[in-house]
Amino acid sequence: MIDKFERIKLGHFPTPIEYLKNITEHLNGPQIYIKRDDCTGLATGGNKTRKLEFLMPDAIKNQADLVVTVGAVQSNHTRQTAAACAILGLKCLIVLEQRLTDAPSTYMTSGNVFLDKLFGAEVILCPSEKDVKEYATEIMAERKNQGANPYYIPVGGSNHIGELGYVECMREIIEYDKDNSLTHIVLATGSGGTHSGSVAGKTYYKNDVKIVGISVKDKKNDQEEKVFKLAKTACDYINCDQPKREDVFVFDNYVGGGYGVPTEGMKEAVKLMATKEAILLDPVYSGKGFDGLMDLVSKKYFKDTDKLLFIHTGGAVSLSAYEWAF
Ligand SMILES: *Cc1c(COP(=O)(O)O)cnc(C)c1O
Repeated sequence: MIDKFERIKLGHFPTPIEYLKNITEHLNGPQIYIKRDDCTGLATGGNKTRKLEFLMPDAIKNQADLVVTVGAVQSNHTRQTAAACAILGLKCLIVLEQRLTDAPSTYMTSGNVFLDKLFGAEVILCPSEKDVKEYATEIMAERKNQGANPYYIPVGGSNHIGELGYVECMREIIEYDKDNSLTHIVLATGSGGTHSGSVAGKTYYKNDVKIVGISVKDKKNDQEEKVFKLAKTACDYINCDQPKREDVFVFDNYVGGGYGVPTEGMKEAVKLMATKEAILLDPVYSGKGFDGLMDLVSKKYFKDTDKLLFIHTGGAVSLSAYEWAF
C-alpha cells in the first residue's frame, strides 16, 4: 500500500468528481465527467498539491531549510511549492525560466508570479542563455556555502516521490468508479508526473481504464518515453509490476506554437467550459487538454457509450496573465 509512504496533508482530498451535463449535451458524444483537482485547496489548488504532500516530508526528512524548484514564469508548480513552504515554515527559492519571448509585462508579473512572491518565496529569473536546472544547481551550491541545507524539487515535482500523488489520485478514482464504468481518463501531460503516476496507479490497482495524455510541449514519442520512464521508477518505488509501454499514450497535436503559446482550440475550450459549466480551465495545460478531448470527441475517437473522466489539473490563476490572448 502507498499508505506506508510519508505524507503531509496540504489539500482537500478526495477531490470531487462531477458530471459535465451541459458540455456532454453540447458535444453530443460520450458522457464526460471531471475530476476537480483544480480544487485541491492549497493556494487556489492544482495537481502539484498531490505531489507536494509526498515531496515535502522528504525535504523535512533531509533536514532541509530551503526548498529550491524551477518552472516557467507562470508555473503553477512553483506557486503551490511556495505555499507548501509557507505552511511548513521552510524558505523557498524559485528559479523561473522565460519560455514565452514576446509576452506582455503582465505575463511577467501577475498571476502565479505575483502569488509566488505573496507566499514569501524568493524569485529569480534565469538568464536566457543559461539552462534553468544548471542555474538552479549553481545557486544551490552558493547557498550551501552560506550555510543553507537546500532540497531540490525537479520541474513539476515529477519524480518517483511526487508521482505517488497520482497513484493516490487513481485510488480515489477507482474507489469512485465502483461499477468500473469509466472507459477513459484524459489529462494534460507536461513534466509527466501526473500522467506517469496515473499509469503507475492503474498498474498497481490492476485497473483497465485507458489513459490519454494531451501533450502541452513535447512530441508524442518523446513525451511517451519520458512518461513511461517515470512510470517505471514509480512502480519500482511502490514495488509493483512494471507498467506496460502501450498503457502510455500521448497526442501531440494540440500544442500549437509551443509550451504556453495560446492556440485557437485552447481559447475555445476555455470559453466553452466557462460559459457551459462555469469552470475555469487554464491557457497552458487544462485548456489545451480539454481542446484535445473535444477534438477527439468530434472525430469519433470515442464511442458514444464511453464514459470519460477529464482530470482538471488546475492553473486558472494564470488566466489573468493571459488576458491579452483572449
Ligand atoms: C503542471 C501542470 C500540469 C502538468 O502536469 P505534469 O505532472 O507536469 O505533467 C497540468 N496542468 C496544470 C494546471 C499544471 O500546473
